[in-house]
Amino acid sequence: MSELTLSIIKPDAVAKGVIGEIVATFEKNGLKIAAMKMVHLSRREARGFYAVHRERPFFDSLTDFMSSGPAVVMVLSGAGAIGKNRELMGATNPAEAAAGTLRQRFATDIEKNAVHGSDAPETARTEIAYFFPELDIVNR
Ligand code: GDP
Repeated sequence: MSELTLSIIKPDAVAKGVIGEIVATFEKNGLKIAAMKMVHLSRREARGFYAVHRERPFFDSLTDFMSSGPAVVMVLSGAGAIGKNRELMGATNPAEAAAGTLRQRFATDIEKNAVHGSDAPETARTEIAYFFPELDIVNR
């Protein structure tokens, strides 16, 4: 059964000019784009998106980074899309990310780590709804 997940190409990766390579990686690995847009988050929107991390010491720095420039938000669909996207992304810290993963290829550091991906079905639902009304998600 097809599953949906939220992916973000973070401002560091957009600035590096690797949107195309990241999208190509998803498409080559069986994930389809079901919704997509460029956004430049306000600090308030970034803080809302990462609200679960508000007690973490890096919250201010992370949300400043996420609102520092344009990002691409996407809904990916496919069988096991949540897990497949996490596999393609690699570990949070690029120093620990497996060879060939998006974070190993494109991240700068543990914060500016190129991509975001939902980590579970419930967070996927909440995160998708944060950016996309139901009608903007195509049936693929
Ligand atoms: P993810 O699910 O792999 O994105 O990782 P988390 O949910 O643990 O963290 C969310 C985001 O916060 C990460 O993708 C990083 O951008 C950032 N982050 C995580 N850990 C750290 C850290 O130790 N320091 C800083 N500065 N940022 C971090």
